[in-house]
Amino acid sequence: MEKENDALRKPVRCLKGIGPTIGAILAKRGVKTVEDLLYLLPNRYEDKGTLKTIEEMEEGMAGLVKVKVASSRPVYYPRARKRAFEATVDDGTGSLTLLWFQGPLPYLREICESGNTLLVSGRISRFGTRLQMVHPEVAVLDDDLGIDGHERILPVYPEIDGIRQGTLRNLMREALENCDHGTASVLPREIEELYSLIPLGEALAKLHHPDEAMCDGAVHRRYVERLILEEYVLFQIALLLKKREAAQEEGISFACHGVYRARFEKGLVFELTGAQKRVIKEIEEDMGRKVPMNRLLQGDVGSGKTVVAVLASSMAISDGYQVAFMAPTEILAEQHYLAIHKAFDDMGVPVAFLRGNMGAERSAVLEGIMTGRILVVAGTHALIRKDVVFNNLGLVIIDEQHRFGVIQRKALKEKAGSPDLLVMTATPIPRTLSMVVYGDLDVSVIDEVPEGRKKVATKVYLDKDKGIVYRLIEDELKKGHQAYIVYPLVEESKKIDLLDAKGMAAYFQKSIFSSYRVGLLHGKMRAEEKEDVMSRFKGREIDILVCTTVIEVGIDVPNATMIVVEHAERFGLSQLHQLRGRVGRGKIAARCALITSEKRTALAVRRLKVMEKTGDGFKIAEEDMHLRGPGEILGVKQSGVPDFRVGDLVRDGHMMSRARRLAEEAMARLTADELDRVKNVVKLRWGRTLHLSDVA
Ligand code: ADP
Ligand code: MG
Repeated sequence: MEKENDALRKPVRCLKGIGPTIGAILAKRGVKTVEDLLYLLPNRYEDKGTLKTIEEMEEGMAGLVKVKVASSRPVYYPRARKRAFEATVDDGTGSLTLLWFQGPLPYLREICESGNTLLVSGRISRFGTRLQMVHPEVAVLDDDLGIDGHERILPVYPEIDGIRQGTLRNLMREALENCDHGTASVLPREIEELYSLIPLGEALAKLHHPDEAMCDGAVHRRYVERLILEEYVLFQIALLLKKREAAQEEGISFACHGVYRARFEKGLVFELTGAQKRVIKEIEEDMGRKVPMNRLLQGDVGSGKTVVAVLASSMAISDGYQVAFMAPTEILAEQHYLAIHKAFDDMGVPVAFLRGNMGAERSAVLEGIMTGRILVVAGTHALIRKDVVFNNLGLVIIDEQHRFGVIQRKALKEKAGSPDLLVMTATPIPRTLSMVVYGDLDVSVIDEVPEGRKKVATKVYLDKDKGIVYRLIEDELKKGHQAYIVYPLVEESKKIDLLDAKGMAAYFQKSIFSSYRVGLLHGKMRAEEKEDVMSRFKGREIDILVCTTVIEVGIDVPNATMIVVEHAERFGLSQLHQLRGRVGRGKIAARCALITSEKRTALAVRRLKVMEKTGDGFKIAEEDMHLRGPGEILGVKQSGVPDFRVGDLVRDGHMMSRARRLAEEAMARLTADELDRVKNVVKLRWGRTLHLSDVA
């Protein structure tokens, strides 16, 4: 087994038939090892039809013949001034000339060596008295093997500039032979058998060496799925190993029922929802254990995650530990600070807000954190800067973690040994995706919103009906409520014909909304400016906030009852859902108007209609993933969606839970030796992506 894996790991250059040129072309496509090559799968298969004899072939007919080379030579046609290479071949019923006007001479010479048996496919034409095939497809046959059905079905690989199909086929044959036709699954053989999985090696061999059955799309798919399953299982094993590694760290075992918790619960003015209670129980169990908590808390906007997080904080400080509350932006961090402050101030718990830019006050806060005087601190990534030293950090709460990424998560943990970690996200993520991105975390979901919360009435409007929307805004303002109007651009752009926040804010203030106070908020403003505008909006000194998506996450102004998004088709559904979540946070009914241009595509309509129909963030995320792919939901680039070779999360995501179960089963069954082998495979494939360097 060991040997086969080594063969897979070898650079492709070791294969016969790969020179520097082809090696370089493959490398550019990311194909470096023999294994990479084998995972370059055919898109489809070509059935060359039944073998014919030369005698049966007529002019104009296309077909497949099996022939022997009699002779071959380069030729020159003086009249046409063309060089060519021709081979005379024969199958006992007649003879035929194969003719190439281009192609690498050494290659043609080699395959057309006299005495070679060839499988030739092409169209017959006549030149004078002789029959010929121009630029036929040729495969050299091993004379001993003869030709059966196998050779008739040819795999067709994705076009790669500079490498012919025939070359690819030969390379694949080489590669498979090199691995002795056996590529071992990370799953133990008994599991493959138990679930009647196609043995991995067989799947690979069949895909490259197809028989007739493979021309059936469903059969082909079954073999490809075996590879996808393998890929997903390996990934899930990687996550399980990572989890196991974390579980070996020594963490804090909290008592969970201290004085601050009791006081916080007593002070709550509402009954917790069933989902909140369940999730708190899960967190409590984690925090009570000696193993560090690694939990993701998922819940739609307004589902009450913050309360849960503050409650978890109260458990930590009851035991005398510090809590760090991290948010992606200063505005959000401040909001958390205010929530924490409100909860703990009466109890005399020192709470601080560490902002990036706070002058002399900063050193006082830093000192408070270092001496342990400050028990709870909120902030942005400023919290993981070197100069922040905690006295005894016990719990880290990260809001909107996908904006931080794994590395920062790690950095914060490294500051303080192994504190418990609670990651919150308001971006509902389809289960298939969360199993990938947060697969190393335990997941709690708040799938219920507090009672009495009204659905935000959502409607899609055409550009020409904007007037109606503006009147609706005015209705709200007259009632003393506030509104958001969102634009895709900060400033006017010559390149893109879209409305922008700056221009529209000025326009509204001068014209239709001149009797109201219009504010402007966008990402290019300085942090202090932004905060100033936000606090004025919260304090009702601003009636209409014209903005970009900076308001997307977490901003909480209960008196805002209407949100309008212009050019709504430019936004992802999950993003629109986040934006919509800015309203309907109080007891008052709220509205969301999505304005879109008349030049909408059918897809845009379908997408936006989803928003009218449902307020369920998970459903929306699922839809979004199918329409726009996984990157969209998590926010591009930093998304942490791993690169699968064959699997496509949108198309094959449903296989992930099966892979998870198989991975768990495999881990339980693998012997120590087998586990070592698997760990090596995992490290090579996912070590870097998942920061697995120390899985030992
Ligand atoms: P999230 O962080 O999930 O967006 P929050 O925790 O900010 O949600 O809660 C949204 C609002 O709902 C807050 O004003 C909060 O006080 C309130 N809230 C939270 N839980 C409940 C509950 N069980 N019943 C009533 N109101 C609640
Ligand atoms: Mg919140």
